[in-house]
Amino acid sequence: MASRSPRTSSPSSLQYDLDLDVSISEANTSTSLDPPPANHTFISLKKRMIAAKACKSITNLDNPPANDPINKYTKGDMPNVYYNHPTAALDFIDIDQIDDWENLPDGKLLAHPFGHEVRNIEAHQRIKARLFAAIVEITQSESVGICSLCPCSSATGTPLIFLIFNILELHRQMLLKREVWSSSMFTFRVTTLDPVCPDYLFAITQLTIKAEEHIKDIVHKVRSAQGTTDVLQNIIDALPNDEKAAAAKDLNDFIKLMWVKKLGTKKFGGATAPTFNILANGKLIKDDDIWCHLRDYLAAQTYAPPFQDAGPASTNLHRCSICQSVDHPRGLCAFPHLEGWNGPSWELPNTR
Ligand SMILES: [Zn+2]
Repeated sequence: MASRSPRTSSPSSLQYDLDLDVSISEANTSTSLDPPPANHTFISLKKRMIAAKACKSITNLDNPPANDPINKYTKGDMPNVYYNHPTAALDFIDIDQIDDWENLPDGKLLAHPFGHEVRNIEAHQRIKARLFAAIVEITQSESVGICSLCPCSSATGTPLIFLIFNILELHRQMLLKREVWSSSMFTFRVTTLDPVCPDYLFAITQLTIKAEEHIKDIVHKVRSAQGTTDVLQNIIDALPNDEKAAAAKDLNDFIKLMWVKKLGTKKFGGATAPTFNILANGKLIKDDDIWCHLRDYLAAQTYAPPFQDAGPASTNLHRCSICQSVDHPRGLCAFPHLEGWNGPSWELPNTR
């Protein structure tokens, strides 16, 4: 396969890089009065043509020409995918690899494959080959490389992401614009290497009420409680003086804008047992530790309707084996409902 690890290169992309290096070193030894070498002209022209094509592809992303291979990928607005903490995508990987990423050519993204297969480390070479083929097909990139990630020796899980590197900025933007790329061959989501704090906070279950309005009242009580005000104030007090005012506004907006999303989960046998997901705008918090501290505090509070038992709050209740999101089980995944969805569906081998 033509993809490469951090320490190896595919012949074609390496040749392309070398051509560029030669061109640059030749240009650097020339005097300003010399005409640019002919090779330099062709390389520049080639780069400009690739960039122009990528730019056109972004513009036409929602309405590509009939013969464009992008047509095979599902169009439309994609549902949100949530993880349960800011760096969850990097769970289970050997952290030393992140230093190696610095040495790779720029133009990097994280790829999050859909489906249960990615949880099997033995399938990663096969997934890497499919991801490489998809990125080349979508971007027509001649230089892209893909890294599969090594698990941490002490971790109990399998890395669920791959690193895409050495693509043009326009190709990065193109991939990020649709975010989820689904064809009958392979489905994956792309994110930057700078994940924001998630909107998803936790889920409340086992409440014997059905209306979201009641849960909103319960959540409102918690967020306006003196204990919550004290927690926010302690966070603000620990910040440098020049950050306090902006942080106070963001934290108050974060708490004020918490919202509830009801999920139609059922017990075995079909009895109604809704899950109430609690969310807030994670982008308002820039610090992972502050987000985790606040989320853990909120999840530890008591969420009880009047005269009823409290429902337990969990930050790790579900993990969809279709899209990897933690806010729903696979049976309630929204992706298979998308028109023209090509990716994994509810059916798993030997299960219903
Ligand atoms: Zn899902």
